[in-house]
Amino acid sequence: MKVIKELKSPLNRLFIFETYDGYRVESVFYKGERLCVSSQVGCPVRCLFCASGKKGLKRNLTAEEVFKQYELLKGELPIKGVAVAGIGEPSANADEVVKAIEMFKKEGLKVTVSTTGYPLEGFRKLLRAPHDGLTVSVHAVSEEKRRQIFGVSVSLEDIFSELENYFFEVSSSRRKKFQIGYLLIKGVNDSEEELRALGELARKYRMTVMLMAYNPIPGVELEGLTDEEYEQAFLKLREMGVRVTLSNRFRRDPLGGCGTLTIAREV
Ligand code: SF4
Repeated sequence: MKVIKELKSPLNRLFIFETYDGYRVESVFYKGERLCVSSQVGCPVRCLFCASGKKGLKRNLTAEEVFKQYELLKGELPIKGVAVAGIGEPSANADEVVKAIEMFKKEGLKVTVSTTGYPLEGFRKLLRAPHDGLTVSVHAVSEEKRRQIFGVSVSLEDIFSELENYFFEVSSSRRKKFQIGYLLIKGVNDSEEELRALGELARKYRMTVMLMAYNPIPGVELEGLTDEEYEQAFLKLREMGVRVTLSNRFRRDPLGGCGTLTIAREV
């Protein structure tokens, strides 16, 4: 694997890599300390709002290829942590991702993971990996809405029953490392009723909600919330007693923000 191009915005540095067999994946260096790496070439989940899965899944990356994205850049960037949240669904390549997490930990790095929980066997393995935080990307609470957002998914009931079983095995400080991710799309998953259902889910499992903003991607006609609407959603959950975090500006950047990475960028 080699770096073939670097793109910069005022906030992020995006690196395009080419694999030995000619595929491309991307990593983003953000907040001046973290590297968001890819775990697959493409993605089988094909979320409505995300550019990464638009061409489906080409192949899994090996643990070495996931690690290599860091290894190729560590000499020139002050990387303190890694997020396995770039292109790909980590649960769908769980064995290799768990090995990569172990490799990152040996380097003394903090590692976080984002997953939709698909497939469940992979999700089960990721829960138990030595990561420092895992975000379960929920994006909608009703199964009907989830089918609209995800190309493939596991039911929320199965995901949270897996999580609940795991929570019984671990300490409360370990439990705090798990949060719910919810990307807000106007008119799709932002109604009063949907936010209430999200708040109830978070309260039930005592999890923080990370409310993510939608970043426009080419060829997709979706709309994000205005800043005011986004704050209203935040306040609504806060009023329910839920701990909420908002997307920082690095995650809202058109270059390298959530959902913007692709295996098909023109270089
Ligand atoms: S958001 Fe994640 S799981 Fe969904 S298509 Fe993009 S890379 Fe895949």
